[in-house]
Formats: sequence, C-alpha cells, structure tokens
Amino acid sequence: MWALTLKKEELLSKINVFVDGSWLFKVCKAGSALAKGTASPTYPFPFDFSGFVSALVDHVKAETGNDQVSSGKLVLCTSIFDLPDDFNDWPTKIPEVLPDKVELTKRVVHAKETFSQKAKDAGFSDEAEFHVKMKPWIMSALDNDSYQEKQVDTTLVALLVKSAFDSPDDYHAVVSGDADMLPALRVAYPDYTKNVLVVTTHPDELDSDHKHSSYSYLDYKCDIDPFYFQLNLERVMEGNHKYRCHECGKLFTTINQIPGSSLPRCRAHRS
Ligand SMILES: [Zn+2]
Repeated sequence: MWALTLKKEELLSKINVFVDGSWLFKVCKAGSALAKGTASPTYPFPFDFSGFVSALVDHVKAETGNDQVSSGKLVLCTSIFDLPDDFNDWPTKIPEVLPDKVELTKRVVHAKETFSQKAKDAGFSDEAEFHVKMKPWIMSALDNDSYQEKQVDTTLVALLVKSAFDSPDDYHAVVSGDADMLPALRVAYPDYTKNVLVVTTHPDELDSDHKHSSYSYLDYKCDIDPFYFQLNLERVMEGNHKYRCHECGKLFTTINQIPGSSLPRCRAHRS
C-alpha cells in the first residue's frame, strides 16, 4: 500500500494575499513605475487583479516547489474618500478650495472607486475598505502631499499577522511599497521568513514609490523571494492580446490579435 501522507512541501497550501490598495493605486497611476513599462506611460496602468493572483500562485509554486498551492483569502486594504453632497459648492463657501481642485478630487475618487471595484470583481474582500469623509484640511494636506492614511498600513499588518497565526501552513503575501511595517511583523510573527513573502515594485526603481520607507525590504530576507511587479508586467496587465514592441521592448495591448507573420510594434513605432 502506498503511503498517503503528503510530504511537508506537498501540503495543500493556500496563498493569502493582503494588498495595500492605496499604494497599488498609486503605482498604477499615469507616469508611475508600472505605467513606465508600457508603450503608454502617460496612461494609468490597466491592472489585472485576477492575472496578478494567478501569477503570484505560480511564483510561490516555483519558489517552494509545492505544486499544490492555490489562492486563499484575498483582501484589499484601502481608503476611499466620501464626498459631501455640497462638494461642488465648496469653492464658494471655503475660499482656499479652488474649483479645479474639486473637479480633480472627484476624478481621483472615482478612479480609486473603480480600482477597488475591479479588485472586488476578482474576488478580493472589502472588509478593510475604509470610508473617510472629505474635509477641507484633507484637501490642503493632499495638496502638499502631507496626508497620511495610517489606518491602511496598520490594518494590513494586523490582518497579515492574524492570517499567519491562524494558518501556519499557508503562505501569506503582503503587497505594499512601505517596508516600515516589517519591524512590526518581525516582532509579532518572528517566523515570518518561512511563509511570508513581499510583493512590491523593484528596488532598482529609485522613484517615489519607496520614498516614505525608512526600512528596506532587502534587510528582511524571506525564504520566498519577493514578487516584483516590473518582472511580471505581462501577467498583471489587462488585455487578451499583449505584446512587446519589436523596436522599444515596451508592453502594449491590441484589440485584435497581431498575425504571426508580422512583428509586434507599439503605436509610436507603427507609423
Ligand atoms: Zn515601440
């Protein structure tokens, strides 16, 4: 009779994913780290949440040699501004709020709501979606980039640590650009190197995505190597037909498939 016990590395493990949605939204903005890898860097990066989860599962399979990994709990931690009913009237009531700021804020809030909805459509839970009432002081803080939404970071660590304790045989991925949460993780869950992995933008990108961190992910080496978005761009981009331009190597999508007989070229290199 063949032994039915699975070896440790063949456990039916799940990968639980905890996303800092506010950070991910930022790195998908026009001109950001992900958008720069495409042939349309001045447009927001069309992030594919389902594609991301399956790419992450494949990454963990490859890193651990465990073929039985599948996706588990998916959580998007994010905050969304609720705009008051009289928001359009703010410029007439509050001198420091300019009309174009009202329009810009409405666009950004709408874009973030759409982004969160895409995550929910892909199976992410909204249990950690915070709604924050817009206030005039928040508008000013957003203006000079001093607004901090600490509730997202702290909830992300709390959910990650709880998940790690509840399911020690699972893998737990933290999707964030803020390595400042790692000291807290190390204190609360010293075994983190075994089954926690980091999903972030590549550290070679010395851009604003990492500027708020005092700690570096590189100081916290986990057994599973980080999943870097830039190295998996094709997998996390929306679109049925994705190509790399023969001339510039940038990623682009087309509505119709490019015939196998012609070399793929982005819009700029087609003309
Ligand atoms: Zn090109």
